[in-house]
Order: sequence, then C-alpha cells, then structure tokens
Amino acid sequence: MACVSFPYDAPVSQTLFDRASLVTPGGVNSPVRAFRAVGGTPRFMVSGTGPYLTDADGREYVDLVCSWGPMILGHSHPEVIAAVQEAVARGTSFGTPGEGEVALAEEIVARIEPVEQVRLVSSGTEATMSAIRLARGFTGRAKVVKFAGCYHGHVDALLAAAGSGVATFGLPDTPGVTGAQAGDTIVLPYNDLAAVREAFAAHPGEIACVITEASPGNMGVVPPLDGFNAGLKELCAANGALYISDEVMTGFRTSKAGWFGVDGVRPDLMTFGKVMGGGFPAAAFGGRADVMAHLAPAGPVYQAGTLSGNPVATAAGLAQLRLLDDAAYAKVDAVSAEVRGLVGEALAKEGVAHTVQAASNMFSVFFTDRPVRNYEDAKQQEAFRFTAFFHSLLSQGVYLPPSAFESWFVSTAHDAQAVERIAAALPAAARAASEATA
Ligand code: PLP
Repeated sequence: MACVSFPYDAPVSQTLFDRASLVTPGGVNSPVRAFRAVGGTPRFMVSGTGPYLTDADGREYVDLVCSWGPMILGHSHPEVIAAVQEAVARGTSFGTPGEGEVALAEEIVARIEPVEQVRLVSSGTEATMSAIRLARGFTGRAKVVKFAGCYHGHVDALLAAAGSGVATFGLPDTPGVTGAQAGDTIVLPYNDLAAVREAFAAHPGEIACVITEASPGNMGVVPPLDGFNAGLKELCAANGALYISDEVMTGFRTSKAGWFGVDGVRPDLMTFGKVMGGGFPAAAFGGRADVMAHLAPAGPVYQAGTLSGNPVATAAGLAQLRLLDDAAYAKVDAVSAEVRGLVGEALAKEGVAHTVQAASNMFSVFFTDRPVRNYEDAKQQEAFRFTAFFHSLLSQGVYLPPSAFESWFVSTAHDAQAVERIAAALPAAARAASEATA
C-alpha cells in the first residue's frame, strides 16, 4: 500500500495550540509534547484506533509513541473499552477500598515474583517518590544514588541529570529544586559499576538506595551492560542499601514480568506505571514484604492518594494486563524487530551514521555509528539529523516521539498495513536525515 501523504501544515492544530498557549504554559501539559526539540506545531489528536492516531485536521498517523508506552494493545482496544464502560457505569470514584484494586494488585504480585506487596498510586512520579521515601524510612539513611540520563518522573530529588524532557531541553537541573532537596542525590554515569563502588566507599552507612531504570529508555534506549543490574544489587546488599528498579516504562512491556522477566535480577523495591493503567492514571510501587510493612497504615512511613486505586483506572489496567499473554508479547517483539530492521536498512542505504538500540520491544535510533552506553554517549549523536527524519516521517503520516532522546513504542495492533506505511515513508526520511545540516 502506498504511503498516505498530505500537505504539511496543520491549521486546526495550530489554532488549538494558539488557544492552549494563552491558558497553559507553553501550550502543553507535559513539556516534551510541545515539539520544542524538533520545532513545528504539535499535533492535537482527536482519536486513536489500533496503531493509528487521527489529528484535529483529520490526518491519520501510524503511532510509534503509543502514549509514551501505555498503549501496548493499540488504541481503543474493544475489551479495554468495554471494561472501562462497565466500570464507569458503576461510578467513577468512591474513596473506599474496592475489589478492582485488589484484583490489580493480585495480578501484579502474580506476574512479578519479587513483588510480595504493592501499593497503587496515580503516576510513575508518585511511585518513585514514594519508593524513595520508603527506602529512606526503612534504612534511616538520606542519600540516594541515581544515574545520569535516567528519568524517574519529576520528583524533586531526582531531577538531577535526568533524561526524557530534561535531556531534550538540556537542563542539567531545574529552578525550583533547592540545594537541600537535591543535596542528598548522588548522580553517577550509567553502566559504570566502579563509580557505584566508589560512591559506597565515599559515603559509608549513608546511602539509602540506588534507583535505576531497569533498562533505560529516557536517554533513548540504553540497555544495561551484562552484569550491571546484578552488580548494583550485590553492591546494595553488601552496603545495607535498597536496590530500586524503576519499571515504569519497562514494566509489563518488555515481557510479562517486565525487565525482571528478562534479566532476573531481584530488586528490593520496584516501580510501575504506563502499561499497568491501560491508558488511565494508575501506577504502583512494591517489593519485599518486610520493607512494604513500613508503609502507613501498617507502618510509620506516610503515603496516600485520593484517587489511588481508582475503579475506572484499575478496570482498564486489569483488562489490559489480562490480555497480555505470551502470544501478545511475541507479536509486539516481532513487529518491533521488523520496524527496527526497516529503519536501519533505510538509513544505511543513505549512508547515515546510526545505531539502533533495543531492549526487547523498546527501541530507538541514535544518529551516531558508535554504541551508546550512557548519557554522555547519547549526547554525542547528531540530533539535527533526527529533526529532519522526524519531520519527514510526520509529513508522511508516521508519528515518532518528538525528541532524539526517547524510546519508540509499538503495539499488538501494529499490523502488516501499518508496517507497510512506515516502510513506504522511510526512504524519504532517511534522505532528509542524510541531507540535514547542523
Ligand atoms: N520512571 C520512568 C522510567 C519513566 O519513564 C517515567 C515517565 O516517563 C516516570 C518514572 C514518571 O512517570 P509519570 O510520567 O507517570 O509520572
């Protein structure tokens, strides 16, 4: 099938963006949506079906963002929609316990062996913030180790050398986070166990936890080197610190049991979001029962949420997780491999230096011919080529994350027709990347 092409302007999106910019800072409710890294007008989407999004100008795109990860079954999956409609009809929030949240917690505990107990929250940021508070409360220590280029949401203490939107905008830190809030955060280069060893030696008895993305996707996809996560676990155990694996992005995506299902390294605490909410605000943190027992009301570490375990969000999450069997993951893995192959082929044909990196079905393209092992490597790429590549694909109806520092996502709904549309758009995009100048 030929690719869909259309005029490049987006008048209705432009009008909406102008309206939005008057009432919302930068016109968006989350910075990376604003297209600042690539320029142009963000597309305002009005609907999504399977692998496609339709914008306010009536144009259809093959979606390679999938709402930044959650939509692993594609948009408007009939069984997820039915579960939501059924839940909504019974009421939208009760502020009491409900069976849906028990069922979702049971599903998480059943899938991910190190999670003995789990607490539901509403966003990945809340999950990592709460996990760190719990680690500090449990250990009685203050310091937190994180890695440059890893993003754990906009938690004050973790907005130091973070990836994602922060990487995109090149902000090493952000105004509004005080020295005191970030002062207990130790930022180390990713994939560097020697640096972690040195940090423990320099701060004996002071480090509460090491938090890491299970396999980072917020500086582009940079998988852990062999033995890195196991080494972190070992160093934490030897030094009385907790090992927190942030699986907000990888959880229930990179396998049935997330990245834990891939590398088998057992964290003390884990954080989840995205896929487990089925497109709704649901997230979680969990892990060792003896650590979770310190959480209120069982223990002294306070944590709460008006909408935590919301019945509509838990119904959506549960419906999505129950559909994610081995066959579903095999399908997402296969389509990811196919798209990665097509992208690599098109860029090679035009002689564009590139490296495609993957962590099971998560992947991204770096415009450099050197392997990317940490944030410093990621920053060496020729990001201006991504800008040209992105806009060419957008103009041909393929929607990529609007930044060179983000993972691309596919779903079970990305069928042969969607892949063909991507394949048809790639030659011109690769040419645009090759002709781009800094
Ligand atoms: N942790 C990781 C690894 C993430 O990728 C994200 C968001 O992209 C978060 C935490 C924060 O999640 P949320 O945006 O739901 O607050």
